[in-house]
Amino acid sequence: MTGTSTDVVVRIEGLHKSFGHLEVVKGVDLDVHRGEVVVVFGRSGSGKSTVLRCVNFIEDPTEGSIEVAGIRLGGGHRTRRKREQIRQLRLHVGMVFQQFNLFPNMTVLDNVTCAPRMAGKGSETEIAQRAKDLLDRVGLADKAREHPARLSGGQQQRVAIARALAMEPDVMLFDEPTSALDPELTGEVLSVMKTLSTEMHMTMMVVTHEMGFAREVADRMAFFHEGRILEEGPPSELIASPRYAETRAFLEAVL
Ligand code: ADP
Ligand code: MG
Repeated sequence: MTGTSTDVVVRIEGLHKSFGHLEVVKGVDLDVHRGEVVVVFGRSGSGKSTVLRCVNFIEDPTEGSIEVAGIRLGGGHRTRRKREQIRQLRLHVGMVFQQFNLFPNMTVLDNVTCAPRMAGKGSETEIAQRAKDLLDRVGLADKAREHPARLSGGQQQRVAIARALAMEPDVMLFDEPTSALDPELTGEVLSVMKTLSTEMHMTMMVVTHEMGFAREVADRMAFFHEGRILEEGPPSELIASPRYAETRAFLEAVL
């Protein structure tokens, strides 16, 4: 453990990320505290996904560090030791993408039990019971035996959420979880995400342009602009009275 406050689940410090000569994240600092919901928003290309992907080391930082659940890692060469630390860090992080990426050849239940089974997270009975509880929580108890293709996009995304929760992460990362869905299906996914916060007190980082959700659920919002956080604050302040013209213009476009 490092000496940082135990209340901090995710600490992003001085994060820079370049792809070749293109620097897309230019110094991001952000703490997410236990039980907190942070909504990240901003124009396409502003670096939101890259920051989220750095948090669980799908991408390695070029500079700066990421700390999750007391495991702090920077950029640099992936040594054997670092790969093991990344594996450890990822055990604390659940991620849900725009595309649900369920395993098409497995039932819904197997999609949810697969990772905890591989990780040996409890007995078979415990794993199956936890999966059923989670499917119940996302409103899909009756779909356990179905295959993903038989479900709607909204249902598939809710399975993806249950699957990520099955590893009992300390933080859930959502990257535009509703933007691939037909508008009539976004509500059911957002409502499940809301209950993760209100009932499970889940710590979450959510990239979304659903300002209704942000207003209702977010503790804090961070507006990304050209690889930096231009401003952050509680939704009541940030949505109602943004300080920067860039934020205002963006909000006017999405509201
Ligand atoms: P956002 O999620 O805010 O739309 P991204 O983090 O996806 O932004 O992308 C930020 C910038 O980084 C974009 O210009 C994108 O084209 C570029 N980018 C993202 N991933 C890669 C990659 N693997 N290789 C090269 N460029 C990338
Ligand atoms: Mg993105």
